[in-house]
Amino acid sequence: SFIFHLNLRKPPPLRCLSSLTMESPKPILDFGKFDDGFVQKLVYDALVWSSLHGLVVGDKTHQRSGTVPGVGMMHAPIALLPTPFPESYWNQACEVAPIFNELVDRISLDGKFIQDSLSRTRKADVFTSRLLEIHSKMLESNKREEIRLGLHRSDYMLDEETKSLLQIEMNTISCSFPGFGRLVTELHQSLLRSHGDHLGLDSKRVPRNGSTSQFADAMAKAWLEYNNPRAVVMVVVQPDERNMYDQHWLSSVLREKYPLFNQLKTFLYLCLKSLAEVETEGRVHEDGTLTVGGQAVSVVYYRSGYTPRDYPSESEWNARLLIEQSSAVKCPSIAYHLAGTKKIQQELAKPGVLERFMDNKDDIAKLRKCFAGLWSLDDPEIIKKAIEKPELFVMKPQREGGGNNIYGDDVRENLLRLQREGEEENAAYILMQRIFPKVSNVFLLRDGVYHKDQAISELGVYGAYLRNKERVIINEHSGYLMRTKVSSSDEGGVAAGYAVLDSIYLN
Ligand code: ADP
Ligand code: MG
Ligand code: MG
Repeated sequence: SFIFHLNLRKPPPLRCLSSLTMESPKPILDFGKFDDGFVQKLVYDALVWSSLHGLVVGDKTHQRSGTVPGVGMMHAPIALLPTPFPESYWNQACEVAPIFNELVDRISLDGKFIQDSLSRTRKADVFTSRLLEIHSKMLESNKREEIRLGLHRSDYMLDEETKSLLQIEMNTISCSFPGFGRLVTELHQSLLRSHGDHLGLDSKRVPRNGSTSQFADAMAKAWLEYNNPRAVVMVVVQPDERNMYDQHWLSSVLREKYPLFNQLKTFLYLCLKSLAEVETEGRVHEDGTLTVGGQAVSVVYYRSGYTPRDYPSESEWNARLLIEQSSAVKCPSIAYHLAGTKKIQQELAKPGVLERFMDNKDDIAKLRKCFAGLWSLDDPEIIKKAIEKPELFVMKPQREGGGNNIYGDDVRENLLRLQREGEEENAAYILMQRIFPKVSNVFLLRDGVYHKDQAISELGVYGAYLRNKERVIINEHSGYLMRTKVSSSDEGGVAAGYAVLDSIYLN
């Protein structure tokens, strides 16, 4: 049967009690009792809401849906209802967000740590090597980033066995869905306002989500710090992007927010450019100003540049280097980007490494509490264990965007292959403890049709950080995104087609 356990703080509305187990201290909501007619009504309302509010993506069956806005739109894949999540873990994830932001900033200033940690990976992985090359050039020229903007998302799963909130990864480049995080939350709040009585759910238990406005605010403030009123915010985009509406939401809120910052009596302009366009139109002037098509740029926000696919030719690498050499605020800088690699995550989990960057013992303890088991492939003990029980591990290359990890029997096969083929390629990967979150029953909505399925969820908490030299201007948790996927799937990307967008119901 289809049973959802909800540990509600407040007693549910009276009219629901008859259908709940009265004796149980934890009211149980039985999804099975909702007839198809009721669920269809919810689905219909969700589809209308999504269409009216721009919770939409490009439809992949439509050829121009990734290039022309307003053409071939489809509602985003979503969970029909928010997924229950314990309030204590929610608070924990919010509390560590500013500490992780600060950590990324400190790592970014330690060029030697970044270079040393990735020195062996550089030989095994061409993509990381190209990024490191840019980083080396910046170190050689003594380039300092005075204004530093981080728009991060730290992802977690709740491990059912140890009952702990464990970090999956820290994203420092092109974090997706700051636009949709807020929207899917508002969709769920709206559905619960209309149907909460029947569902026995209270819309106020879905926490408000400032993902879009808080990221926009951080970008606007970075633009202010740069202090050239005529310079634009440049969004670096992929030339064909079906997830464009998430980005347009951020741009649009940024434009609308601007009057709040209108001390300079000018307008904040945005431009969208691909890396290839930056290569042909871009120039760095003697004073460090980046211009693209003659237009000065103050803030560069990357929604591209995180995967080798974004660099099909030398042009794109030239563009990345050009931007890095300029005085524009980069979100992220090459150092912030590298601080978010899986290899660095694994290095940070080694004893004593966090202490290199942080003094506050409480903060260190809070971060360490979220660390899952992480190992390099040099550790023969762990390799042996992983070959024996590959289902307890995930093998990860230095990649972003989903769909790159290795699971199950493939872990064993790859480890055996690496043992045969020699040491060098080892450094391209890390091993991570596999986390097993609780499985629950959910309604997943895709292509206008709903499915009931067993699913697990991953909570992403956004973090914004802005600093100018010694002055920390913003350091906060900035909204959230839940992603829910059928439990039979290993990977979790929404854009990659594995997961749906979701929000949380605090219990
Ligand atoms: P990416 O940068 O490509 O998003 P992730 O480290 O987030 O890489 O891995 C992608 C997905 O794989 C995650 O969203 C999650 O669903 C799954 N995953 C990653 N690490 C683990 C783990 N340790 N245990 C269980 N699932 C994991
Ligand atoms: Mg990632
Ligand atoms: Mg991820």
